[in-house]
Amino acid sequence: EVEAVNMEEITGAQIIAEALKAQNVEYMFGIVGVPVIEVAMAVQGVGIKYVGMRNEQAACYAASAVGYLTGRPAVCLVVSGPGLIHALGGMANANMNCWPVVVIGGSSDQNQETMGAFQEFPQVEACRLYSKFSARPSSLEAIPSVIEKAVRSSIYGRPGACYVDVSGDMVTARVDRARVRAAPCCPPPPVSLAHPKAVTEAVAMLKTSKQPLVIVGKGAAYSRAEDEVQELVELCGLPFLPTPMGKGVLPDDHPQCVAAARSRALLQADVVVLLGARLNWILHFGLPPRFNPQVKVIQVDICAEELGNNVKPAVALLGDIRNVVSQLLGCFRKDAWRYQSDTMWWRSLKEKMNANERIENDALAAHSSVPMNYYTVFHHIAELLPHDCIIVSEGANTMDIGRTMLYNRLPRHRLDAGTFGTMGVGLGFAIAAALVESGRKTCQRVVCVEGDSAFGFSGMEVETMCRYKLPVIIIVVNNNGIYSGVDPHTWDELGKMGDLTTIAPPVTLLPEARYDQVMAAFGGQGFFVRTPQELRSALQLCLDDWERPSLLNVLIDPASDRKQQLCLSPYLS
Ligand code: ADP
Ligand code: MG
Repeated sequence: EVEAVNMEEITGAQIIAEALKAQNVEYMFGIVGVPVIEVAMAVQGVGIKYVGMRNEQAACYAASAVGYLTGRPAVCLVVSGPGLIHALGGMANANMNCWPVVVIGGSSDQNQETMGAFQEFPQVEACRLYSKFSARPSSLEAIPSVIEKAVRSSIYGRPGACYVDVSGDMVTARVDRARVRAAPCCPPPPVSLAHPKAVTEAVAMLKTSKQPLVIVGKGAAYSRAEDEVQELVELCGLPFLPTPMGKGVLPDDHPQCVAAARSRALLQADVVVLLGARLNWILHFGLPPRFNPQVKVIQVDICAEELGNNVKPAVALLGDIRNVVSQLLGCFRKDAWRYQSDTMWWRSLKEKMNANERIENDALAAHSSVPMNYYTVFHHIAELLPHDCIIVSEGANTMDIGRTMLYNRLPRHRLDAGTFGTMGVGLGFAIAAALVESGRKTCQRVVCVEGDSAFGFSGMEVETMCRYKLPVIIIVVNNNGIYSGVDPHTWDELGKMGDLTTIAPPVTLLPEARYDQVMAAFGGQGFFVRTPQELRSALQLCLDDWERPSLLNVLIDPASDRKQQLCLSPYLS
């Protein structure tokens, strides 16, 4: 009797919100509708930031970038059926990148299951391929512990995507608050260290190596190992090479960075210290012809199953990179061992770094003719960008050439198409980065360098940027197509010749499309740029404006990439 009087009822939506708050979730991205609108309202009520996006895919990209940047997962909230299916692309991308994210999907009512309910779909099963954990709480009371498990699974071990399914009837159902057991906040992953014997072996192997190389991957960035990795590289005098998103863990202009001699470094290294990078396509599988068949790999990874993929490691160091590198440092500090700087290996790498390609690129960059080429565009961008900005990049040549010409000096300041080679991630990533940055004392600029095709995949997210007044700068490097395009005149001629669907090259997009006007339509700044001078003055105006987003539509020669046209890899040549 007494209990009934004091009973306080709580809805499923409120339980979800309080459970997420208890797990220190700070951001939720999503698109509301039946049956999750109450969830979004409830999370705002407990002080979690809700960011409404325009497509669930981009919402999931944004949530996963917050996870990578902060080490704590954000949530992506989606409606049933198609909403959840749109988010699968984002989950797959996060899982492939080893980035934490928690997706919460509304689903059709339990009592209509298998009856052909509105947007009915086997969501828990569908998410399994794209995640580490996928489940539906069996009752309202079970919600907090399932959410805790999803958050924990997303950050413990190898980070990844997790899914929690909530049926529509559960969102609005009520239960006595006293019956809901709160789940305590899951702490950061427990410390994991490599076996001391393996550490000793690794140190001995490095000391006897003739041509050592450190490869820094995005696992090192995620692990926040920048201070330790820098000390290791500098104390021991080792050459290092970043992977695309490993860029910035150590500055790209560090004297020991041998990125400009990448092929030679990979091919001739006899001992490779692999810090949080998989030997997948990005690193040519660690195999000949790109690697020395005798190479000894000292592999550091948090995921035991990863150790030995494609190449059997000479030493396997299982543990968190930051901690394992500290273990290595402990040994090297004792006897102050240092790889000599006057070796054949250093000479050979330095010679390669000063060789032809550099000079060729510089010559291309110096062109002042119109239409511009990629190198000219990136040359001017690189000169104007602040050194601490976060660079988001996607597209084929735009990302490839931009990666070598736009330097990163800080860790976790480069976000790109990643392990999965996903196009369309850029705007979601930029929104996430801008939000995370806006909460920091030294807020840094987010610059999104996009191909025109890449921009199109999630282009409507410019409305999201304008709505939340995020001062993102989008630079669309516009070559009228995918890999390449045609000029307006050729396009008109093609149109006169016949049916465009049968004769237009499949790579083409509308020549000189006004992406800048898309941004202007929502109140951001748009610039249409053809010359180096226009590029410089427009970019400077954008950098001075912290009130709203802007877009530079930079027209380049649609045939600028001809020589690479047959290289379909969006990455490394
Ligand atoms: P890249 O794209 O830079 O080559 P990958 O995504 O292929 O990097 O590899 C990152 C690796 O880092 C994954 O194998 C992942 O298991 C590992 N990793 C992630 N976080 C940590 C961590 N804290 N400590 C050690 N390894 C980690
Ligand atoms: Mg293009």
